[in-house]
Amino acid sequence: MIRARRARIVATLGPASRDPAKVVQLARAGADVFRVNFSHGTHEDHGKTIAAVRAAEAKVGRHLAVLADLQGPKLRLGAFAGGAVALKAGQRFRLDMSKEPGDANRVGVPHKEVFAALKEGALILLDDGKVKLKVLEHGRDFAETRVVAGHGLSNNKGLNLPGLAIPIPALTAKDREDVVFALDQGVDWVALSFVQRASDMAELRRLTDGRAGVLAKIEKPAALEALDEILDLCEAVMIARGDLGVELAPEEVPVAQKELIRAARRRGLPVIVATQMLESMTASPTPTRAEASDVAGAVYEGADALMLSAETAAGMFPQEAVEMMDKIIARVERDPRWPELMAAEFPVRDVDADALVAAARRAAEAASISCLVAFTTTGQTALRLARERPLQPSLALTPHVGTARRLALVWGVESKVVPQIDDPEALARAAVEQAVAMKLAPPGRRILILAGLPMGSPGAANIMRIAHTPRR
Ligand code: PGA
Ligand code: MN
Repeated sequence: MIRARRARIVATLGPASRDPAKVVQLARAGADVFRVNFSHGTHEDHGKTIAAVRAAEAKVGRHLAVLADLQGPKLRLGAFAGGAVALKAGQRFRLDMSKEPGDANRVGVPHKEVFAALKEGALILLDDGKVKLKVLEHGRDFAETRVVAGHGLSNNKGLNLPGLAIPIPALTAKDREDVVFALDQGVDWVALSFVQRASDMAELRRLTDGRAGVLAKIEKPAALEALDEILDLCEAVMIARGDLGVELAPEEVPVAQKELIRAARRRGLPVIVATQMLESMTASPTPTRAEASDVAGAVYEGADALMLSAETAAGMFPQEAVEMMDKIIARVERDPRWPELMAAEFPVRDVDADALVAAARRAAEAASISCLVAFTTTGQTALRLARERPLQPSLALTPHVGTARRLALVWGVESKVVPQIDDPEALARAAVEQAVAMKLAPPGRRILILAGLPMGSPGAANIMRIAHTPRR
C-alpha cells in the first residue's frame, strides 16, 4: 500500500485508538508512525499497544514505526487538600518543599532545582501558563510570590520557568525504567521531552546504545539556544509546540518552527511538527480552517512528518483526523507550486550533499528516472536522498526490518526488507523487481540505483547505476 503523499503522519495512540482493530484503521487511513506516550498509562498498556502496531503492520503491508515518547523532567506542583483552590490576582502565594497538601496560601513543589534556579522578579507559569506568579523573595526551599494572573489551581499541574535553564537531570528515574522497557519491546524511535542541552541527548544515547533512533523534542527556549549542539546528537527532532508555546510568546512559535525545520533539513534529520494541528477534531468531525491551513503550512515548509496527539489518542474522531491530515497533505503536494515553495524554505544549493547523492538527483532530472532506489543498511543513504526532496518516489531496500521501520518517519521514502545482496547484477535485478512490484516504476522505464558495496559495510554509497524495468 503506497501512499499518494511524501509527508508522513505520526498518530498518538491512547484510550481512543489503541485496540488492535483501531490501530489497523488508523494505519489504513494513513498513519505511518505510532507514538506511545509514556506520560500516561502503564507498561502493560504500552506493551499491548506496541503489539497492536506490529500486528497492523503485517495487515497493511507497509512498514510502520513505533515512537516511544518519554515524559522527561516535566516539573509539577504537589497536591491540594481539597483537590483544587481558588486564587485572586494580587494575592500572595508561597511555594515550598513541604509534602503537606496545599491550600489557598501555599503548595509544595517537589523539585529543589526549581528553587535553585529562581531569580527575584522571575515569572513562574503554572497549568500551561493559565496561572502566573511573580517571585518576590526566594530561598533554597521556598519562594514567596504574587499572583499576577489566574483564578485557580488543582493537583499536580505543570510548572514552567520561562527562560531559566533548570539544573535538573535529563531523564528521571521513571524515564530510565521506561527506556529499558521500550527497548525490550523493540521500539524504533525514542523521544526525550524537555531537552535543554546537548548532554541530555548524550545521556539518552548512552541508554539506547543504538537499539533505537533518538529524537529530541524541542519544547524549551533553552533548547533553541543550544540547537546546533543538540542536533549534532540527534537522529530526528520534533517541534513540540504545546510546551514550547507556554514559555514562548505565541508569535514566536511559528518563527521557531521555521527555524527548526530549516536546521533539521540542512542536516538531513527527519523533523516532526507537533501539537494542536487538528485540535478541534478531538470533538468535531471537521477541522477549523486555521487548522487545515496550519497542516498545509508545515507541508509547504518541507517537514518530514506531522503529528496528531489528543486527536487520535483521546478524541472522538481518531480515524477522521488521520484521513483529514492525509487529504490536506496530498492536496498540497498536488499544488504545482509546492516543490518550488518547499525549495524556497531550504534551497537545495545549500545542501552539502555528498557527490553521489547530488549526482543522483541531477541524473534523475536529466534522464527521466521514475524511481530512486537506495540499498541501505543503516538508512543513511535513504536519508541523504530524502534531504534533497526528490520528486520521484524513493525506495529504500534494506536487510534490516528496524531500518525499514525507522524510515517510516522520513519524507517520501518507501521501504522494503530484502536479503543482503553483494553482486551488482543481482542488486539491479532486485531493485527492478521491487520497484515494479511496489508500482513505483511503470514498465519500460528507468530507475536509478544507489548502493554501497560491499553491502553491510558502514560508509556512504559508492555506486550509482541505471536499470530498466521490463517492457510489458
Ligand atoms: P507532549 O509533547 O504532547 O508530550 O506534551 C508535545 C508538545 O509539548 O507539543
Ligand atoms: Mn510537551
